[in-house]
Amino acid sequence: MAQNRFELHEERLATTDEKGHRVYLHPEDVSGKWKTRRTFFYRALIGLYLILPWIHFQGKQIILLDIPQREFTFFGQTFYAHDAPLFLLVLLAFVFTMGFITSLWGRVWCGWACPQTVFIDAIYGKIERLIEGKSRQRQKLDQAPWNFEKVWKKSLKWGLFLIASLHISHSFLGYFVGARKLFWITMSPPQEHMTLFFIMLFLTGLFLFDFGWFREQFCLIACPYGRLQSVMMDEDSLVVAYDPIRGEPRRGTVEKSDEGDCINCYHCVKACPTGIDIRRGTQLECIACTNCIDACDEIMLKVGKEPGLIRYDTEAALEGKETKRFKPRSFIYLGAITLVLSILGYNLSQANNLKVTLIRGTKVPYREQVLPDGTKQVRNLYRIRLDYKGSTHKEVLFRLKEKASQEAVELITPKNPFPLDGGRSRNAIMHFSFKPNFLSQGSKTVILQFVDKKEKILLEKEVRLVGPLN
Ligand code: SF4
Ligand code: SF4
Repeated sequence: MAQNRFELHEERLATTDEKGHRVYLHPEDVSGKWKTRRTFFYRALIGLYLILPWIHFQGKQIILLDIPQREFTFFGQTFYAHDAPLFLLVLLAFVFTMGFITSLWGRVWCGWACPQTVFIDAIYGKIERLIEGKSRQRQKLDQAPWNFEKVWKKSLKWGLFLIASLHISHSFLGYFVGARKLFWITMSPPQEHMTLFFIMLFLTGLFLFDFGWFREQFCLIACPYGRLQSVMMDEDSLVVAYDPIRGEPRRGTVEKSDEGDCINCYHCVKACPTGIDIRRGTQLECIACTNCIDACDEIMLKVGKEPGLIRYDTEAALEGKETKRFKPRSFIYLGAITLVLSILGYNLSQANNLKVTLIRGTKVPYREQVLPDGTKQVRNLYRIRLDYKGSTHKEVLFRLKEKASQEAVELITPKNPFPLDGGRSRNAIMHFSFKPNFLSQGSKTVILQFVDKKEKILLEKEVRLVGPLN
């Protein structure tokens, strides 16, 4: 029997030819309940991505990752570089959550929320279809020689791709620079912000290349999550799967009376954005986009059969076994997530809004002064960095803890109490002035307190004072 021209090579991906060159795919359009749901979800995600940098909460952008200032704001809470261990916990929680989700619902992330799928399906693919037409027309155009029609269609398509990429890259930068600030930066000449301008150009080029041309290649050869999914999934994980018991033997391979429900139309293969045949079983290349479900359901309805020959199901259920939704692996993931979130929650609840760093201020550790009455006085200079995460203005008073220290050491600083604005960092300078006999053997440790207006002690820091050996 002659092989169907859509039958895929047994050992080679559909995206490469016999010489190993890239074969550019033109998946067929599908419509159906999953496509409708995904389109709605993609639009919501893109809307969120574009709107979030413009939303402010307690006077700050709701998500702002200010790398030069090393300040990271999430929903009114600001974190600093020294909070890096908390980021590690967030990262761990994310990894365990992805493991948990994948073990239950397979590659739901890839098909429903990965930016690669969302932007290509909802923006770039749409532009392409609008200008170059349906799958067959796009293929014909690619194979056609360069004529006027091909030039204007390709130029218009890549022009619109460029506009989309510029928009995505600017929104992306809005999370790091601040959307409002970035808006005014874009109004000024590029020479005034050359670094940012080059970063923007790089990102735009990257998005244009990846979403416009590289596409499914990223999922097939570059995505680490795609490679790891096989260790996170098992026969009880939900996957997009073909039901061979119902579908086989396919039409045209046996007597008509023995045929299963698959009519061998290859509609599922032609609609697949990674170019695989899901009837060969669950494959690494499947991004669970559901295109083949809608494609096959459409055919099943046309031939008067029940939809669902390709559907969301587990390998166990397809083999007629019972699906165990929660297995030891799921509880291990849940336990790890709970543990990490508990540690994170405890750290956040204990975290002081005020962080203070004391740095000895000059090249010499102390200076000696002779006062008009002839007595000697020693001064130690300290620079104080105050990182304040709170949302409201605060006045912080500097004072020494012990009474004896308060009487013996004078704190000389331009402002005491010192004003702090919500979510900002400030530097203060402080001289500790005292008589040499306050020290014992050239040094003494005192405790500097940081106190708010209500006399609440926000923080205490040890300060080592030094001077001449008595
Ligand atoms: S096999 Fe189906 S779900 Fe998987 S990538 Fe192809 S079309 Fe999407
Ligand atoms: S779309 Fe359905 S009927 Fe057609 S080849 Fe695929 S599984 Fe078979």
